[in-house]
Amino acid sequence: MKSAPGSGAGTLYIVATPIGNLDDLSPRAASVLAGVAVIAAEDTRHSGRLLQHLGVQKPLLALHDHNERDRAGQVLARLEAGEDVALVSDAGTPLISDPGYVLVRQARERGLRVSPVPGPCALIAGLCAAGLPTDRFLYAGYLPAKRGARRAELELLVTERATLVFYESPHRILETVAEIRDVMGAERELVLGRELTKTFETFYAGSAGVVCDTLEQDPNGARGEFVVMVAGAPPDEGPGDAGEVNTDQLLSLLLAELPVKKVARMVSELTGRPKNELYQRALALKPDERKT
Ligand code: SAM
Repeated sequence: MKSAPGSGAGTLYIVATPIGNLDDLSPRAASVLAGVAVIAAEDTRHSGRLLQHLGVQKPLLALHDHNERDRAGQVLARLEAGEDVALVSDAGTPLISDPGYVLVRQARERGLRVSPVPGPCALIAGLCAAGLPTDRFLYAGYLPAKRGARRAELELLVTERATLVFYESPHRILETVAEIRDVMGAERELVLGRELTKTFETFYAGSAGVVCDTLEQDPNGARGEFVVMVAGAPPDEGPGDAGEVNTDQLLSLLLAELPVKKVARMVSELTGRPKNELYQRALALKPDERKT
């Protein structure tokens, strides 16, 4: 478990741990945790229980949002002295709405080896079972706690074409879902993944209006942990990646000056949408140019 061959430095392992079901901890994660010199944990008591379950006894070092800058130095010193270190968070993959970014960044800046031990992650668990498009998604973390800022953030995302993924705490879930309905529209498809991998795992899926009503009526609706997933804006509704300009407007504008093929290529580069799709659309907008 050493870093770059011959460097003498240790490796920082970023170890994913279960988001509910303890059986989801991978055999490799267990063996890395058993093999390192020290484990940096977001909450040492919480991770201590997991280690006890695994029968692993290791020194634990608290590394959380409030001490990460100070603690990173200690971890780096241990790595440079040749010790392997594992970083874990309370649940799932460290750095995904969890501490660790400062440490990983600094370790990389010093040329130390950082190695992922992948595993559970609530957003991936939710997304892979939600039935929403997964070819492009935007993970936006937690929405702001204050109502105005939260609404402003949702308004910024209303024309985004990628599937949107958020984390939310149980005490704000009803409010957040109602705001998604109000800002994105009651017809926008919404999926909530609640208590994933746990006994009361539940998916709520449908239009934002229906999901909102269902959740309000469910006595357990605001209990447990949630991943919130929203279908991206339909293609003809928003400007997508082209900023404030609608794709059809952009195509029409360029078609006035350039041949269809060239226009499709340029708009594809600007928006990331498939060239062939844009070529067909451009032809539809300018049918007399079929041979360009
Ligand atoms: N690092 C974690 C990961 O890889 O998913 C996430 C940590 S973040 C502080 C905790 C949030 O993740 C919760 O508020 C909830 O939104 C989501 N989450 C964690 N476990 C979950 C579960 N079992 N079911 C649904 N959402 C979960």
